[in-house]
Amino acid sequence: MQYYSTNGSTPKVSFQTAVVKGLAADRGLFMPERIPTLPKAFFNNIGNMSLQDISFVVANTLFGDDIENSTLKDLVYDTLNFDIPLRHVADNKYSLELFHGPTLAFKDVGARFMARILGHFNSQENNDGSLVNVLVATSGDTGSAVANGFLGVPGVRVFVLYPKGKVSRIQEAQFTTLGQNITAIEVDGTFDDCQALVKSAFMDSELNAHMKLTSANSINVARFLPQMFYYFYAYAQLAKRGQDLSNIVVAVPSGNFGNITAALIGKRMGLPIKRFIAANNRNDIFLNYLNTGVYTPKPSVATIANAMDVGDPSNFARVLDLYKHSHKAISDEISGCSYTDEQIAETMAITYKETGYILDPHGAVAYRSLEEGLKPEETGVFIETAHPAKFKSTVESIIGEEIDIPDRLAAFLNSDKQTIELPASFDKFKQFLMSL
Ligand SMILES: *Cc1c(COP(=O)(O)O)cnc(C)c1O
Repeated sequence: MQYYSTNGSTPKVSFQTAVVKGLAADRGLFMPERIPTLPKAFFNNIGNMSLQDISFVVANTLFGDDIENSTLKDLVYDTLNFDIPLRHVADNKYSLELFHGPTLAFKDVGARFMARILGHFNSQENNDGSLVNVLVATSGDTGSAVANGFLGVPGVRVFVLYPKGKVSRIQEAQFTTLGQNITAIEVDGTFDDCQALVKSAFMDSELNAHMKLTSANSINVARFLPQMFYYFYAYAQLAKRGQDLSNIVVAVPSGNFGNITAALIGKRMGLPIKRFIAANNRNDIFLNYLNTGVYTPKPSVATIANAMDVGDPSNFARVLDLYKHSHKAISDEISGCSYTDEQIAETMAITYKETGYILDPHGAVAYRSLEEGLKPEETGVFIETAHPAKFKSTVESIIGEEIDIPDRLAAFLNSDKQTIELPASFDKFKQFLMSL
């Protein structure tokens, strides 16, 4: 399958090129040239299938022309070797817990999948043996998932850029303590600055002549597309429980809109989801777009759901492309919301008190959107994107109870932080990369 650029001014490329390049030459984002659909029989039987089996069918439908069947199967089974449980929280509302992967972040799946694909393509190219350099900007969870997903993958070097002092201690520990092929760069600026540095690096011809560069943000097709597996599995779990499958509403805590875009493409492939809610914190760029029809990026503001502090969501270009730029088509299928830190905290406190369920600040945004907007005949699935322990002090002060740090997370805190400090200046960043 070929991939085109959302900006439409470069020729289509192969899947391999889309993965290795990350961003199209005209700065657009790659999209699959057609969206294949899954047969009805697949959905009739899905309740009896495992996460790995479902994901392989979906992956094979999308990537089957580009990667040999047995390689793809190994890749998918290896990536999804943990469960993604659907838990009943209250009434007609379920939590899809995406945080049971190695770094307890939902981005583990996309990061692991992409790392393996890139490793596969790199070993196949068998050229000069040069390294591929992955640049990733993070507001917290991307860095840890990508760093851990790529750790030790031969032929690949990873640079994680993060805003100094703006990620939680546990998140920081997860990508600054690994060593090996992972380098953490502490940028004196915001997440948007980090993202801008990465984007500029991809566009710099001198730098690209000097080294092979690619992204592991949800800009990359191999990072964002595998996230659709979750939604098929959520549907399967509802089917297994004998739930009404005709009125499913999915609420996705959104930052760069990679996760929700994967879900929207899943729907195009035939997944019967009625409608979506893009749940946001005070960074309400998408809600403003829905309300006005005009997209106006803004500088991000800091919130307690910091992985969603994004002022110019990179995948918005894909949403527009998917709906042929029709504001009406987008508004018909996706609604939005925006909550303040106080509202997020209130939702976490009340939900814990009434149901015993511990929401993390990101999941809480999505849960509240269901509480406010779900109709009685609908079944709501909200996405829990992070383990509450990742935001330990915030969560504890809100619910008034201590929560345990899983061993997997605690281990990171015992290692030494190693970073390179840089100002938010492209010249300095470029100088650093050119010196390698
Ligand atoms: C990355 C992240 C999000 C936002 O996901 P997008 O795909 O960028 O919209 C939400 N919650 C958490 C915990 C995250 O790490």
